[in-house]
Amino acid sequence: MPASLTISSRAAAMKPSASIAAKKIVADLRAAGEQIVDLTIGEPDIPTPAHIIEGALQAMGAGETHYTPSAGEPALRQAIAETLQREKGLACSAEQIVVGCGAKQLIYETFAATLDPGDEVVIPAPYWVSYPDIVTLHGGSPVIIPCGQDTGFKLTPAQLEAAVTPRTRWLVLNSPNNPTGAVYSRRELEGLAEVLRRHPHIWVMTDEIYEHLCYEDIRALSMVEVAPDLFDRALIINGMSKAYAMTGWRIGYAAGPRPLIDVIVKMIGQSTTCASSVGQAAAVVALTGDQRCVSEAAAMYRARRDRMLEILSDVPGLELNVPAGAFYLYVGIAAFIGARTPAGKRIATDLDFSLYLLEEAKVAVLDGGAYGLSPYLRLSFAAAPDAVEAGSKAIAAACGALVVQKEV
Ligand code: PMP
Repeated sequence: MPASLTISSRAAAMKPSASIAAKKIVADLRAAGEQIVDLTIGEPDIPTPAHIIEGALQAMGAGETHYTPSAGEPALRQAIAETLQREKGLACSAEQIVVGCGAKQLIYETFAATLDPGDEVVIPAPYWVSYPDIVTLHGGSPVIIPCGQDTGFKLTPAQLEAAVTPRTRWLVLNSPNNPTGAVYSRRELEGLAEVLRRHPHIWVMTDEIYEHLCYEDIRALSMVEVAPDLFDRALIINGMSKAYAMTGWRIGYAAGPRPLIDVIVKMIGQSTTCASSVGQAAAVVALTGDQRCVSEAAAMYRARRDRMLEILSDVPGLELNVPAGAFYLYVGIAAFIGARTPAGKRIATDLDFSLYLLEEAKVAVLDGGAYGLSPYLRLSFAAAPDAVEAGSKAIAAACGALVVQKEV
């Protein structure tokens, strides 16, 4: 590093995204000739549906290749508002919508726009890796609440009540959840809404990016559907990445009260200017076009989930938690802590376990530590069916080797 380069203390304190780091490790190993089964992936392996690509090509041909308004193209904001009205019964105008370069940018700009040093953000763990680091980067303090298997990895009203302080600015809710697939029921959301009503200074960020990937014949409900009175201090976060297999298009959106939306728009105007014009045109086609691609994708992930569960169900020591949504399995591995690998290494943490799987079984997975709740592994079934099959079998075999060697 050149001596003249100084890294800000905020950037130095930030951890790299574990999932993005894993992607690079897998790419590097493959480039070096290793055969790795990748179960770290946080994105659909299927192509973006053809009609969406066709819509983007048409938009490019029609010259939609310039800056758009920072809030997003009016046609897309309108399509999003109508989707929210139709699917969630929300009274939401196009002015209450902002489009960003993925849901991630909107989460980033929201915390940039609303947090001052010492402001607290309640984040139930396990959580999506980026929330705490984005909060910290903007001077806020993440308040991490461990939510274990006993509550289905969900925050309870009592836990929320106990976490509230005068400095609490936000509660982050993510349902269906990454990494556990947990989906909050109406009753559970009502319980949390009751607590929020007692504390009018708290806003709720409801990250619904996996809402359409739900497997138990339930619909993932939004907090603002269950408690419409809270919509004046709620921000819905959503996007095209997961449901429409559009991760690379980088289109996400947020919906909420005008004053918050306006400040996010101002920040976008000084950062990325706007999301990609072509991506936005594609998103209009996705939202207003045939929705069968979404239900077909959900059915496909469900089949992959069921196969993964089937293969792993016979493995002594693994604690399987059936995910109701998203495309990850969050597997408990407490029984293996303290075990020795066939090469004689001791498994002290879930990170050790993930390294063992990478080195010995050639399967890449993410450790629960990255998601704030150990000891677990996150296995993605967004991977192709042969990877789900081979990866799950290799994990089962690797667990067998550990159990045999476990110390008493
Ligand atoms: N929220 C959650 C819970 C996620 O898992 C992701 C992607 N991994 C995002 C937000 C960001 O999605 P994007 O920026 O692609 O819209």
